[in-house]
Amino acid sequence: MRFSGAAHFHVLLPHPVVFLGCKNHGLRRKNGPCRPIPGGPSSFLMKVLVTGGAGFIGSHTTERLLSLGHEVAILDCFNDYYNPAIKRANVRAFQDKVQIFEDDLREAAAMDRVVAEAKPDAVIHLAARAGVRPSIEAPELYIDTNIKGTFYLLEAMRKHGCQRFVFASSSSVYGVNKKIPFAEEDPILQTISPYAMTKMTGEQICSNYAQLYAIRCVCLRFFTVYGPRQRPDLAISKFTRAILDGKPIDKYGEGHTRRDYTFISDIVDGIIGALNFNGDPLCSIYNLGGSQNVSLNEMIAAIEQAVGKQAIINQMSEQPGDVPLTSADVTKAMRDLNFKPTTHIDQGIPKFVEWFLQMRAEGAVL
Ligand code: NAD
Repeated sequence: MRFSGAAHFHVLLPHPVVFLGCKNHGLRRKNGPCRPIPGGPSSFLMKVLVTGGAGFIGSHTTERLLSLGHEVAILDCFNDYYNPAIKRANVRAFQDKVQIFEDDLREAAAMDRVVAEAKPDAVIHLAARAGVRPSIEAPELYIDTNIKGTFYLLEAMRKHGCQRFVFASSSSVYGVNKKIPFAEEDPILQTISPYAMTKMTGEQICSNYAQLYAIRCVCLRFFTVYGPRQRPDLAISKFTRAILDGKPIDKYGEGHTRRDYTFISDIVDGIIGALNFNGDPLCSIYNLGGSQNVSLNEMIAAIEQAVGKQAIINQMSEQPGDVPLTSADVTKAMRDLNFKPTTHIDQGIPKFVEWFLQMRAEGAVL
């Protein structure tokens, strides 16, 4: 375990944290009033633990929380699922402003200690083994991290009185859903990869802890998230790298598979909306998607345009576990979480490519 950043709390919060139990918001800080923050009557300053805070979505979420005035701790094991140097670079700008717990979700005692020490008002749980294809190779690792890890974290929250949880689920729980667009009430009984199964189980664990221990849980089904810092194992990053280097890209299937792509800042808007959500029921599920589905061919064309080079295509057959279409119905998130995705793929891809080129110029191996 490495712990750093505590000495810098005064930069964020010049006075001791003084929140009183707030009836409206349900916070349990012991010694002072919740402070409203700009952004709506239901927004209050909190101490937030972001798991996976060094990752793609986690680092952007941490930055947004800090900019809103929240106090933040992050938990991340900086594993080598992809180059950990990217994760170190992700946290560089804010590492002196947050508590950093370098711990592993798979250790129950560590989760207990982190929650006891951080004393968060809320946990945003983004740490996970992500990725469909690797989950087929190593299902047990996914079960240990995504299922047991989520359980250990909620158990620590129950024990230490933290009652607000935002859980990163995934559009992959819908499997080969025939109904388009995917809505939260659609049955999700037939996942088709270990990854999706672990996310579906995570939602069920949330349901248990909400019912049994009144922990407010908001499960967010993310639909393919992209933007600066995107994981290098995802298609947009892989294709950008290959096109820039003049190498062929592996294209699985004919390019007609469609994905609902969501730009990172839109996703973070939804996460913040979920953090502030106080409605019913105590455990709720929301789709967060970009409300546009883009074919693989269109996505490749957008990268070619941003990079200024043609792709060399290496045609592959379809992959087991890949779903043909993801499409989000985001009506519910728009209503309850103030979620309004605005960034089109033609605006978002150039922002990703700009970050990618900047990282390379700084010598990062991407
Ligand atoms: P990411 O890999 O960049 O971030 C995850 C972070 O969790 C990493 O920094 C990693 O080091 C950390 N982590 C992994 N295992 C850990 C463990 N055992 N202990 C402590 N930390 C651990 O991934 P991301 O794309 O930012 O995804 C964040 C979350 O959103 C994940 O839960 C993922 O399943 C979910 N999600 C992402 C997408 C997407 O398109 N990116 C789509 C659907 C769902």
